[in-house]
Amino acid sequence: MPDLFIDGTWRGALDERTREIRCPADGSLVGVVDEAGGKDTVEAIAAARRAFDEGPWPSTPAADRGDLLLRVADLLVRDKDALARAESLDTGKRLVESEYDIDDIANCFRYFGRAASAETGRVVDTGTASVDSRVVYEPVGVCALITPWNYPLLQTAWKVAPALAAGNTFVLKPSELTPHTAVHLMRLLEEAGLPAGAANLVLGAGPEAGAPLADHPDVDLVSFTGGLHTGRRLMAAAAGTVKKVALELGGKNPDIVFADADFETAVDLALTAVFLHSGQVCSAGARLLVQDSLHDRFVDELVRRAELIRLGGPFDEQAQTGPLVSAAHRAKVEAYVERGVAEGAVLRCGGRRPEGLDEGFYYLPTVLDECTGDMSVVQDESFGPVLTVERFHDEADAVRLANDTIYGLAGAVFTTDGAKAQRVAARLRLGTVWINDYHPYVPQAEWGGFKQSGTGRELGPAGLAEYREAKHIWRNTDPSPQGWFA
Ligand code: NAD
Repeated sequence: MPDLFIDGTWRGALDERTREIRCPADGSLVGVVDEAGGKDTVEAIAAARRAFDEGPWPSTPAADRGDLLLRVADLLVRDKDALARAESLDTGKRLVESEYDIDDIANCFRYFGRAASAETGRVVDTGTASVDSRVVYEPVGVCALITPWNYPLLQTAWKVAPALAAGNTFVLKPSELTPHTAVHLMRLLEEAGLPAGAANLVLGAGPEAGAPLADHPDVDLVSFTGGLHTGRRLMAAAAGTVKKVALELGGKNPDIVFADADFETAVDLALTAVFLHSGQVCSAGARLLVQDSLHDRFVDELVRRAELIRLGGPFDEQAQTGPLVSAAHRAKVEAYVERGVAEGAVLRCGGRRPEGLDEGFYYLPTVLDECTGDMSVVQDESFGPVLTVERFHDEADAVRLANDTIYGLAGAVFTTDGAKAQRVAARLRLGTVWINDYHPYVPQAEWGGFKQSGTGRELGPAGLAEYREAKHIWRNTDPSPQGWFA
């Protein structure tokens, strides 16, 4: 069965190229998928353009669009086992995490299914009796949706669901490393009754299959989740046609622990913050800021527990975290840790591959202590299971260190002093702040970054607004001449 979905038809790549997908946990072959080139993507853009300009989807009543998304949510639940398994094989992550993700994905479709018709415009009071004034929300047009490999279907859902809710058509390009659940999702959209051409899928490498999406004049919006450098490149490429650009990029997220924090909770969630999915989480709390007086006790306990974390493949029920996504990514993480040690960081645990898991791309949970803000390992995202630890003296110092980064995605504050928590939260330049918690999110609340962590927002009302244009319609009901030259 071919894997590219263009204009409602499943087909292979024009030049018949394919790509092998291997499981990061053991290198086993998961599948062989069609690999699009630029020409396939240009065809997909043309299909999405036709479906937007001439097809029924943009003018389908918002409530009916919402109903379709609710049907997709049900289909996701029906296929949960197959989807979770496919996601785990592509990414190497634990099956239980993938199952959790599929529930979240169904919830995302439900949220945008309901939001589709909740607010489609508003009446404006102009103060003039002879005027009817309305603002209506219309779809932006053809959307290019480009997604990464760490939460493949989740990141896709955060884009596909609001794009369709608003009446857009799209071309999706998932990460070349993790394509299988995107293929499955297209089949569900087809089954739910989405018109041909409204959803298009190209699989393949960024520079070939992805690049035309950023500069093609028939694309109206690019929504991208991925690395900072790719995001910068896409933004520059999109500038030529002044596309709308929404970017969800990286983070170097501070986890601030005050001396008065609940010790057990702060240690437990500091581990979750950074080692969940082996640190391959954009909001990973990879930068621990711990108050001086608590530092030694806290880091000792953290290291003790980090050394107990059990690594294993997706179907190992004892495993607590899995492999990195590829050999190339592990090599980057290894080089990052070596750089940290060369810069003067103290390696407290990890810093090497585990024994007995040689088939996969595993790397041990790693803690680099005695770091300072001027080190590149503190500033750069490793996107691996690596925690850097810095000390701070007081509240002002904590805020200054936490904000001393080009990123601004997410972070946490641990303290039992409620007023202090609120003061610090207010001063952090971050899109999400957790207080005495780490990682939870809901589709009702916006997600996104300050500073170079991105532009725009996903989820919540702003996540839908991203895919809408506001049009003001002014109707003069007074037939008498009233122009300047009447
Ligand atoms: P990446 O930037 O390498 O790739 C992301 C996507 O962009 C892939 O589909 C890739 O094929 C595509 N791409 C690459 N070059 C392209 C080009 N020239 N034109 C068009 N498309 C191109 O990122 P990655 O390694 O897949 O993902 C990891 C990064 O994603 C991390 O930096 C992480 O922080 C970030 N991320 C951010 C969020 C968030 O919500 N802010 C969520 C998940 C991941």
